[in-house]
Amino acid sequence: MATAPPDASRPVIIVGSGLAGLAAAHEAAKAGATVHMLERGPKPGGNSIKASSGINGAGTQFQRASGILNDTSDLFRNDTIRSAGFRFQTRKEAATGNDIDRESLVDTLTKSSASAIHWLADEIGVDLTVVAALGGHSVARTHRGAGKTPPGAAIVTGLLQKLEQRPEFKLHTSARVTQIHVDGEGRVRGVRYVQKSEGGREGQQPRRENQEEEPKEEQVDLYGPVIFTAGGFAGDAHGQLARYRPDLAGLPSTNEARPGPHGLMAGVGAELIDMDSVQVHPTGFVDPSDANSPYKILAAEMLRGEGGILLSPQGRRFVNELERRDVISEAIMGLPQPATEQGIKQWDVTLLLDPGAIDATAGHLGFYTFKGLVEKKKVKDLDPAVIETVDRYAELVASGRDDDEFGRRTFGHWRLVPGEANREEEVCVGRVTPVVHFTMGGVAFDNKARVLRRASDGGALVPVSGLWAAGEVTGGLHGDNRLGGSSLLECVVFGRVAGREAAEAAK
Ligand SMILES: Cc1cc2nc3c(=O)[nH]c(=O)nc-3n(C[C@H](O)[C@H](O)[C@H](O)COP(=O)(O)OP(=O)(O)OC[C@H]3O[C@@H](n4cnc5c(N)ncnc54)[C@H](O)[C@@H]3O)c2cc1C
Repeated sequence: MATAPPDASRPVIIVGSGLAGLAAAHEAAKAGATVHMLERGPKPGGNSIKASSGINGAGTQFQRASGILNDTSDLFRNDTIRSAGFRFQTRKEAATGNDIDRESLVDTLTKSSASAIHWLADEIGVDLTVVAALGGHSVARTHRGAGKTPPGAAIVTGLLQKLEQRPEFKLHTSARVTQIHVDGEGRVRGVRYVQKSEGGREGQQPRRENQEEEPKEEQVDLYGPVIFTAGGFAGDAHGQLARYRPDLAGLPSTNEARPGPHGLMAGVGAELIDMDSVQVHPTGFVDPSDANSPYKILAAEMLRGEGGILLSPQGRRFVNELERRDVISEAIMGLPQPATEQGIKQWDVTLLLDPGAIDATAGHLGFYTFKGLVEKKKVKDLDPAVIETVDRYAELVASGRDDDEFGRRTFGHWRLVPGEANREEEVCVGRVTPVVHFTMGGVAFDNKARVLRRASDGGALVPVSGLWAAGEVTGGLHGDNRLGGSSLLECVVFGRVAGREAAEAAK
């Protein structure tokens, strides 16, 4: 417990500098608040900066310009709830206030999706003109730019540039929040953080303890409304992941290795929900030069959306490549698994892109090629079983028939023709395997991005005064399976709400 000094100015404190934090910071600063953003890493951006497929929006100007005229927030809502699975079967509980109101969170997400895209494009200046279909979506609604910069990096950089122009905004890197201050009535009053000396601490009075033992770190107390945008725990292999999903031990991850922040928030009463809902993404690249690394670069879903197919070790298709992530991951994990090496569980699946998909993803492929994760091969140099599969698939696409075997409905930009005519054409191949990617669970929250706790009688969920959250740290919105492109969206939608609400509270 701590008491805020009476004369303390009340900045909005944002914990974590990924997209949710940056969106919150932008709105809070715009509303006139001073914003202190605390980031444990040496650089801002979190996992957000790595996002590679894009951000969802239903009914956007960019969809219309691409000829997609039939998307609506209702269609997006239905896709989201279908993907979310069994977690959405608790409506009675929601009505009594004993569970979060999941459907209303989805309503907010999907209804605000077009305005989130337009905000990023018009106000922040991010290029989001290219639209692709990802797994589980009825139509193409995942937006990214036409150039080489992946969408996460483009959005994070755009927001940081805008924020740097605002004198109200102060970014502290290498600043790890270790404690949330609450007063005697359980209201959040601020945070304590540890500032590594090489970071950018600004304007705070340090309270240095154990100076002789820890000369390079200072503890700093900061008071004001707090927004937690500290991300998920998919990179916390030996901590929260091991606690909530021990069965995933040994699977590699696409996430930065760092402890999940949820324990800190639970310490001030925040309710944690759906913590065992962890998304295993079907396609992380196995780097041939470091095959047993526990960290994998994501093979973005849009590679399949734009036309890529997946092949078993026998060179056969085995799944609709645009099924939901959980379905494809399960299908891969049902294939024979090569012997586990160095404790890493991985499979031997090939992602193959034809020349049409190569062209449509050229901006991204350059990076994957540079990293040695994919290589180009002429069709004639592929295994005979793969050539046979490619021919059968090319024939299916050319015929306009349905994919009766696996049920794929859209084929992206695939244009390879079947038969001898394709033998001199180049395709792109890389080895992929399922990876721990995203944590659907997190702190309970509501439409105002307020963090919720269980009331003292154990019944309803009520807001924790002074504490907001947005982004992957929150739980409940995606149920048991998140749709690709919806995490960046939730960061923008609920991050902005949190920024506005906390700025109001700071006044
Ligand atoms: C490789 C990859 C590709 C992806 N592609 C997509 C995509 O195309 N579309 C999509 O919608 N989603 C995608 N996702 C998911 C999405 O990027 C993340 O879920 C989302 O960006 C999370 O944003 P965030 O702001 O909540 O957290 P993050 O971006 O992870 O930021 C959290 C920040 O909080 C900091 N932090 C944590 N604890 C503390 C502490 N105690 N004190 C101070 N700072 C702290 C962290 O260091 C981090 O910088 C992808 C994820 C990965 C890993």
